[in-house]
Amino acid sequence: MVQREPLSTGETVRNYVDGAWERPDGETEHEVVDPATGEALATIPYSSAADVDRAVESGHEAFLEWRSRPVEERIQPLFELKGLLEEHQEELAEILVRDHGKTLAEARGELRRGIENVEVACGMPSMIQGGTVANAAPEIDERAIREPLGVFTAITPFNFPGMIPLWFLPYAVATGNSFVLKPSEQDPLVPLKLFELIDEAGFPDGVVQLVNGGPDTAAALIEHDDVVGVSFVGSTPIAKHVYETAAANGKRVQAQGGAKNHVIVTETADLAFAAEQTVSSSFACGGERCLANDVALVEASVYDEFADLVLEEARTQTVGYGLDEETDIGALITPDHEGRVREYVESGIDEGAELLLDGRDVAVEGYEDGNFLGPTVFGDVSPEMRIVREEIFGPVLGLAPVDGIDEAIETMNRSDFGNAASLFTGSGADARAFRHRAEAGNLGVNVGTAAPMAFFHFGGRKDSFFGDLHAQGQDAIQFYTDETIYLERWPDR
Ligand code: NAD
Repeated sequence: MVQREPLSTGETVRNYVDGAWERPDGETEHEVVDPATGEALATIPYSSAADVDRAVESGHEAFLEWRSRPVEERIQPLFELKGLLEEHQEELAEILVRDHGKTLAEARGELRRGIENVEVACGMPSMIQGGTVANAAPEIDERAIREPLGVFTAITPFNFPGMIPLWFLPYAVATGNSFVLKPSEQDPLVPLKLFELIDEAGFPDGVVQLVNGGPDTAAALIEHDDVVGVSFVGSTPIAKHVYETAAANGKRVQAQGGAKNHVIVTETADLAFAAEQTVSSSFACGGERCLANDVALVEASVYDEFADLVLEEARTQTVGYGLDEETDIGALITPDHEGRVREYVESGIDEGAELLLDGRDVAVEGYEDGNFLGPTVFGDVSPEMRIVREEIFGPVLGLAPVDGIDEAIETMNRSDFGNAASLFTGSGADARAFRHRAEAGNLGVNVGTAAPMAFFHFGGRKDSFFGDLHAQGQDAIQFYTDETIYLERWPDR
């Protein structure tokens, strides 16, 4: 059992508004708890509408000056932030493990992916360039000039508190906007530490702000007159609600929702590799990933062999405390969430799926108060079952035999979700069919978790995404700017 000192982040989660730290003044508050130990780490008070109002007004004031700064100047605090994030990466990783429950390796990987976005946004002088046509009409040159718009907000989920805020923040400010983050109330300590580093990075007051809280705080941001755009990442019902509310209030909006990701395995695949990748994708971060493989559709001729390989690999996974180096699968975020995942396992049994590996009896010595569930594998699942239709967000994988690639793609496309899908195959023709017909935003061929790098956009389809411009990459530049079309004539008289 690893013994650690109490976190140095303090007892009360604070807001960062107009360059200063302050206590949120809403009436609700709750304890932030380590999901593996049950230890109370901090108290999070929720922000009131008045807190939100002050942050947005300060953001608006800051924007009026920040927008006119040369882009070269706007990226300097981001270079500084990259250095600070790297310098404090281990400290951040440890806070992340303790607040979220994932493993240290996963926390380090997450932070690296977050830093990648800061690096990409540092290329803003090139990324923000618009187009020019000389002689677009007689004696007229025409240009498209990208302009920032004002105060943007992002409302983010619990599962990647160190990375997801950075899908948005660096691009919003490098393009000349100001930005208010409302992170998940379930694990706010990494965003808090991130803002301690932002405080050192040299942004002018009001350009980047942190407002903690729950649904009411988010609603106050989404409906605020001076907020021009909303990014949301979270569960599908709330993503849809945020999309509708923000649009009804005249905002730009991109809302990423939940997922149910399929992996297809054909008889020409390297089965051992496919099994290893599928297990890693399904169970890493306790299955609390929007890109996790949830259902494997396996060509019938290799179904039994693949199932055996998956079970063999799944049995090697060690469930435990994220700071223990040998842990592969950490704790689930809350006891309530653990309870929901267990209910899904019950529903799979009730609906007739074959329980091949049961993770419900897992015991982690020394961590009896933790929210643990071991890897759980069902065989012979079918598309009508709840465990196939609905997002579980836990370490539960379903396997089903299919006739071949056509049936697999058709079955997969029946899902309401379209975040990611993977195919393991040795056939180029199967890969081509998959690329053309799979209805998901992120596809992997012989790649178990199709996670885009920061210089590509990240977005899903169907109930996994509401909006048009996605996070990251060039989509982020378009989301955070509008193009002014500028025509100019200087007649030669
Ligand atoms: P959640 O929807 O419960 O909460 C997400 C955020 O929304 C939180 O900040 C929360 O405070 C806020 N919120 C809650 N109710 C709200 C309301 N009525 N109005 C406005 N905001 C509200 O999600 P979660 O449990 O924190 O995260 C897990 C979910 O996120 C999963 O469904 C997962 O698939 C999804 N997710 C999706 C992606 C993606 O890229 N598509 C990435 C990560 C997570």
